[in-house]
Amino acid sequence: MTFKVRSSRLSDLHHQMRSCRKCLEAGHEITPKAIFSGQTTGSVMIIGQAPGTTEVEAGRPFNAGSGTRLFEWLGRAGFDETLFRSNQYMTSITKCFPGKAKNGSGDRVPTLEERELCSPYLDDELQLVEPKLVIPVGRLAINKFYPAKDPLSKIIGTIREVDGFAVVPLPHPSGASRWHQSQTNRDLIDKAIKLISQYRKQMVRDPIGLEAEDTAGA
Ligand code: SF4
Repeated sequence: MTFKVRSSRLSDLHHQMRSCRKCLEAGHEITPKAIFSGQTTGSVMIIGQAPGTTEVEAGRPFNAGSGTRLFEWLGRAGFDETLFRSNQYMTSITKCFPGKAKNGSGDRVPTLEERELCSPYLDDELQLVEPKLVIPVGRLAINKFYPAKDPLSKIIGTIREVDGFAVVPLPHPSGASRWHQSQTNRDLIDKAIKLISQYRKQMVRDPIGLEAEDTAGA
């Protein structure tokens, strides 16, 4: 598929995601406004769990609190936040704000049914963006690529190849998470940042290959 065809299909997909009401129709109390950013130029794809209130207000993924820590990690890997937000792709397992958890412990975790309803969109995003590096952030996103039974301590700091792209997971950067507060786990995050940095350097040497694709014909 050429770059132009992928771009056009991705625009159609974005339109579908923005007007999607599948979770509401299935009885889930979401705020129907799909949050994501980026185009087919993205060679890195960040996948989070679901947007929160500040993401809905700002209309962009990983805004404010958890975004600050995420971009501190990505900054250590050599990525500038403004450039990253303009050039790379950011999305989530479910695209709409799921509301607050009834027990008051932050945002509600999307149910299995919501995840299943939304998952074709993520599969299409992966197919159309064709990222070279995918960074799932947090357990729910990581579960798409790693066995759910494996603890984060076994997963963070590793890299694996999936369907032609590399996957380097990061824990959820939320200030409420205690996972990244222990030194052992911070060392694992440092390892993941090093892997992301190596990828970035490789990407600088060999950018996204648009010319090669365009000359391949429609
Ligand atoms: S979370 Fe996904 S499937 Fe559910 S309404 Fe939003 S876009 Fe549609």
